[in-house]
Amino acid sequence: MQDSTLVTTLGRDPADQRGFVNPPVYRGSTILFPTVAAMERARAAREITYGRVGTPTSHALETAIANLEGGYRCLLIASGKAACNLTLAALLRSGDHLLMVDSVYGPTRQFCDRTLARFGIETSYYDPRIGGDITALFRPETRLLFLESPGSLTFEVQDVPALAAAARERGILTAIDATWGTPLFFKPLTLGVDIAIQAVTKYIGGHSDLLMGAITATEAVFPRLRAGIEEFGAPPSPEDCWLALRGLRTLAARLARHQESALLVARWLERRPEVSRVLFPALESHPDHGLWKRDFTGACGLFGVVLDGFPETAARAMADALELFGIGASWGGFESLVLVPDPAPVRTAVPWKAEGAMLRLHIGLEDPDDLIRDLEAGFARLRAAG
Ligand SMILES: *Cc1c(COP(=O)(O)O)cnc(C)c1O
Repeated sequence: MQDSTLVTTLGRDPADQRGFVNPPVYRGSTILFPTVAAMERARAAREITYGRVGTPTSHALETAIANLEGGYRCLLIASGKAACNLTLAALLRSGDHLLMVDSVYGPTRQFCDRTLARFGIETSYYDPRIGGDITALFRPETRLLFLESPGSLTFEVQDVPALAAAARERGILTAIDATWGTPLFFKPLTLGVDIAIQAVTKYIGGHSDLLMGAITATEAVFPRLRAGIEEFGAPPSPEDCWLALRGLRTLAARLARHQESALLVARWLERRPEVSRVLFPALESHPDHGLWKRDFTGACGLFGVVLDGFPETAARAMADALELFGIGASWGGFESLVLVPDPAPVRTAVPWKAEGAMLRLHIGLEDPDDLIRDLEAGFARLRAAG
């Protein structure tokens, strides 16, 4: 079955739900058993015995995501940041070495530099485009290779199969933040990666109204991962699981529209004299377009725009008065967003050099012609301020 069918069917069973189309929200901490022995049996069988370690609602979402990712099982956690950071904390110990991609999501980088360092775990940042040459950076104590593709803010696409194969040969685990591609457009577990992470907050939620992370792993890695993650005791709320399931039902339809509009707007931007580069792997002009085409089956609505010589003050003047692009963190909801980020302070392996300030755009579900008109008016303000 195609993914667009699976998102409508996975994780629900009306016969089990008194005929209702959607699974109910199970709230609760305590789960009651008829006898002490029954409780012990349920624990031994890893059935649901306490709200913190899962509910039928969270299990429905976990089942759906694990299936879409092509993984063995999935674990849900209270945010995307927790999914990234607690995966690292669950698998590493003092004295270990972590290889982290230089273009990783900023808050993940911060966790490595502050918290992992405090626990005696050393992080080295590597060039997202290093590919199979990563082997030169492996040390005897390297335990984990962390990827994110495309990279946050700068959208480099990694050679995921080459990196995963190099790590596997040395017995090093691999994990990837695969939020941009979503489980529909990018399936890193099928490319040799051990652990795939999603910020469910983004497109699976899809409506800017919940926070959640999902960690999906292969059968070989899952038991160790679960033991480590459960130690933190940070499940998402049952309501948020229910909302995420609701978002999932329309994921394929929304993504198709995000992709179509983003391509339209990105192609229009490419032709603008104010624009130097559009950092969108789905464009033929993107330096990693070939890798994207090989490993992804689609693109979402998030990309970067490098302005041609305009300073940040001008970019801000453009962004501040856009009507349809909200200024705010996150992405993946139905609405368009803009940020004026500066990747330079969070790049160490490959310093960020650009011809001008940059914009990060999320193309929402509005009519793309309306978005283009809004951006066109923005460019007039950019030129006036630049
Ligand atoms: C937003 C984001 C996260 C963090 O998700 P939260 O739910 O906001 O904590 C992690 N990785 C990437 C790539 C993201 O864009």
